Amino acid sequence: MESYKKLLLANKAWVQDKLNVREDYFLRMADDQKPDFLWIGCSDSRVPAEEVTGTEPGELFVHRNIANQVLHTDFNMLSVLQYAIEVLKVNHVIVCGHYGCGGVRNAMSHKHLGLINKWLRNIKDVYRMHQHELDGLPDTARKLSRLVELNVQEQVWKLAETSFVQHAWQAGHPLHIHGWVYDLQTGLIKDQLMLKPGTPIEDIYKLEFDDLPGEH
Ligand SMILES: [Zn+2]
Repeated sequence: MESYKKLLLANKAWVQDKLNVREDYFLRMADDQKPDFLWIGCSDSRVPAEEVTGTEPGELFVHRNIANQVLHTDFNMLSVLQYAIEVLKVNHVIVCGHYGCGGVRNAMSHKHLGLINKWLRNIKDVYRMHQHELDGLPDTARKLSRLVELNVQEQVWKLAETSFVQHAWQAGHPLHIHGWVYDLQTGLIKDQLMLKPGTPIEDIYKLEFDDLPGEH
């Protein structure tokens, strides 16, 4: 059997499983979505967002890209973020990286792979910002793991710097931003950091909004 046909067969079996539990499963699902979480994860096939978090369809709004990047010029990610915050009104945005990330590993190397180097370029900046700590680690494996963690932390702060998050916080929306790292070897997620609503950000990134009272 051709490999892709396995997926279509599995889909039919999955539909049957769901219908066996609830006859109206798909009717209810087609109604609307009200997820409480936006997941920004790596495209890596070993980190399926719903499966590792035990969530069902309807619970996670998902954006994935290589090495879970939050880039201020990425209209795809920014559109997902705006929709999640302003329309779906999620209360949690989760950036989830993973140990052994090929994207982060590549950013640590000097190999030229074309376009992907440009995408991963920002991780080199994260390395430079933490060069002293990273260069002090004894081997490449530990450097990679630490850079995976630092990369997640950096993306969390970048989210806090976006206009969407700043506006939500200033408007009193209880939006939390989480930085997690998934361990491929154990299946466990390590909770790295959480920014509560209104966490102060670096002054230069602060925005004032005309439609909100603010401090100005
Ligand atoms: Zn990855």
